[in-house]
Amino acid sequence: MENSAGVVIVGAGIVGCSAAEHLTRMGWRDVVVVDQGPLFEAGGSTSHAPGLVFQTNPSKTMAELASYGVKRYSELEVDGKPCFYGVGGLEVATTPERWKELRRKHGLAASWGIESALLSPEECVEKSPLLDGSRILGGYFVPSDGIAKGVRVSEAMGREAISRGAKFHGETEVTGIEVKDGRVRAVETSRGRIETEVVLSCAGMWGPRIGRMAGAFVPLLTPMQHQYAWTTPVPGLEADSEESDHVILRHQDSAMYFRQHGERYGVGSYSHRSMPLLSDEIGRYEAGKVMPSIKEFTPEDFEGPWDEARSLLPDLSGTEIERGINGLFSFTPDGGSLLGESREVRGFWMAEAVWVTHAAGAGRMISEWMTDGVPNIDPSGLDVHRFDKHQKSPAYVLARSSQSFQEVYDIIHPLQPMDEPRPLRTSPFYTRQRELGAYFLEASGWERPQWYAANESLLAEFDVADRDEWSGRYWSPIVGAEHLATRERGAIFDMASLTKATATGPGALELLQRLTTNQLDKPVGSVSYTFMLDEKAGVKSDITVARLGEERFQLGLNGPRDIEWMERHLPQDGSVRIEDISGHTCCVGVWGPSARELVQSLSLDDLSNEAFGFFKAREIYVGEVPVVALRVSYVGELGWELYASADMGMRLWDLLREAGQKFGVIAGGRGAFSGLRLEKGYRLWGADMTTEHDPYEAGLGFAVKLDKGDFVGKEALLRRKEEGPRRKLSCLVLEDSSAVVMGSEPVYADDRAVGYVTSAGYGYAIGKSIAYAWLPSEVSQEGREVEVAYFGERYSATVSEEPLFDPAMKRMRG
Ligand code: FAD
Repeated sequence: MENSAGVVIVGAGIVGCSAAEHLTRMGWRDVVVVDQGPLFEAGGSTSHAPGLVFQTNPSKTMAELASYGVKRYSELEVDGKPCFYGVGGLEVATTPERWKELRRKHGLAASWGIESALLSPEECVEKSPLLDGSRILGGYFVPSDGIAKGVRVSEAMGREAISRGAKFHGETEVTGIEVKDGRVRAVETSRGRIETEVVLSCAGMWGPRIGRMAGAFVPLLTPMQHQYAWTTPVPGLEADSEESDHVILRHQDSAMYFRQHGERYGVGSYSHRSMPLLSDEIGRYEAGKVMPSIKEFTPEDFEGPWDEARSLLPDLSGTEIERGINGLFSFTPDGGSLLGESREVRGFWMAEAVWVTHAAGAGRMISEWMTDGVPNIDPSGLDVHRFDKHQKSPAYVLARSSQSFQEVYDIIHPLQPMDEPRPLRTSPFYTRQRELGAYFLEASGWERPQWYAANESLLAEFDVADRDEWSGRYWSPIVGAEHLATRERGAIFDMASLTKATATGPGALELLQRLTTNQLDKPVGSVSYTFMLDEKAGVKSDITVARLGEERFQLGLNGPRDIEWMERHLPQDGSVRIEDISGHTCCVGVWGPSARELVQSLSLDDLSNEAFGFFKAREIYVGEVPVVALRVSYVGELGWELYASADMGMRLWDLLREAGQKFGVIAGGRGAFSGLRLEKGYRLWGADMTTEHDPYEAGLGFAVKLDKGDFVGKEALLRRKEEGPRRKLSCLVLEDSSAVVMGSEPVYADDRAVGYVTSAGYGYAIGKSIAYAWLPSEVSQEGREVEVAYFGERYSATVSEEPLFDPAMKRMRG
């Protein structure tokens, strides 16, 4: 066996093989793949996955990974046998709620460029002849969905990698990983030591064990048992194909799926109790024994699903369960995969918790990441660094992974908060918010008021129209009243869920200048809005930087990934310290026409425009509370973000609430906050822009100063600027102001889906339904008529000049 390698890939399941194929294609040499099991049926999850590929997904990234999988798997074969059977995918509805959801899914597919159709029950039966058409209301059909043969795909991709020089070794167990000075140095295996500076762990549910060998223990995934059973031959079912003539079928109302296996049927179920295991409880591969990723079938958990299977597909009544397994595969706290490089150990990469559906795409993504430093499509939902510290606790990982197993086929509303564990993170204002009857949603574990029942009385003052059932979920007319009261008088908002950090030390300015696009070398007391770009000029984050001292900066960030990015770029000389202060720093936004009078009534500091201008920061007192005050506003009104240490948060809230009575200033919730920011055209990172977009396309070129010197992504940005934008984030106003959409809906021009909505809501102060959308440049001119599809209905909309509210910025600068 080789004693050195450019990269060692641990695991020859579908993900490891895909990574090897893509890495060698991207020019990597000396790629060595090892698996404890025999090639290519190595005993992991891939070895027994029935391989259903349903591409449609609420996440654009996941849908793209799946579509790439279909394309790639269709190109592959092993000894003349195909790796993919494009039989089509059908999802049926047995309840009105599901039928509505399928109509929404049809829209999602159009947004992400996947061809799909809605079918009548009769048309569904034509595609899936065992179905009892009388049980269903209709179906959602994707002609390009199908069946991927996991082991065959692994072999085909493995062979391609081998043809480009990769070496594969089965029955070779990784037993240790040597790390020196924070970097991978070698891999120990049962057949010898391989020197290498790069390891890619594609060990699936064994991932935590491999991570621990490197000291990069990321116990973020939980192996779960999932039931799959094969029937005896179905009477009358003759198959032309050894695989399937029928479409693959999903029955999400009962958390089940089906596929044909020649003359038999396969039945999968997620409707049983969650059955988690510890990664360490999973055995090694042993020849002649049951594969380690298979647990004994528990028939009692399959009784209900089996009854339901025979009800939906009555021909199955003439069959028995011939064989069943409790197969194991990985679940994570948010259901997403885990990709990226360890923070603790350089050169230790992972691509885990990936489905067969997304394996080709994930292999490509991790290869681009390892090759260019950044993937081509937005990785934020898969990045292993997306979790806050509490989300890495074993208790959280287990509870949430079990929940994500249960929710695999649930209808999930875009605003739906997690059920458990709650409350997890509470701001110092929490008790007061409860007293005000806050309706809490949740963000990154923080309890976040969406509106306050105490504001119901505002409805006598402000007229707020009702909403349809879907956009009216997690909503109350009080949201509209709070919005209008903010514009008319003012409101205080809890900003706890913002990730807050400090950058301090003699090297702080230099680091921030290098990582961001705007000029930050400004006098102490300045605040800047700026971007962190990746090397391909994609917007990695938009952040707010307040210079509080020559060597002291306070940062408003979008999450733990931002901190990881900064730490990754820290100079070696220890001249900069980044500290996450989110937990012990609270923040209240005080905004509206009365904001200055209100805060001034509590402070001896001069808050006049002359003394405390727009986009300035100062350390002042509000009552007894020392605060860092930033004169900024995400809602487009005069006012401040007031940051204080958490121990004094309640006092700050009480002072503002009490003094606010005189000015009619209310406590406002996140619902109002969202509508206010949309009216003002402020972008929300993650929804309106991601690493797939650059600042110019997003309409935010003002936060880029090309003359400030070098910064990460500058070279690529210059190239993109020269090429000119191919698409534009555009502001749409819907003609029917009673229609409010939620985001991810397709946008049509000349009856063709050309773009998708990023975020949307109602602008109560302007009386308009607003939707921001990515559109190709040629349809993004102001005045252009387009249509937005919402549950199958088309709504006329016009590309409009933005911002829709106070374009002259008079209110904020007031
Ligand atoms: P694996 O296939 O588990 O590969 C990991 C490899 O790492 C293993 O071969 C293992 O031997 C090796 N390894 C571990 N430790 C070591 C070590 N120390 N040294 C050397 N090698 C090591 N997905 C879909 O998309 N569609 C489906 O319809 C579908 N149905 C499923 C049904 C069932 C019953 C199950 C169990 C899973 C299903 N999945 C499905 C999920 C899918 O199978 C997995 O997500 C996918 O196969 C994971 O691939 P992988 O390469 O990451 O992991």
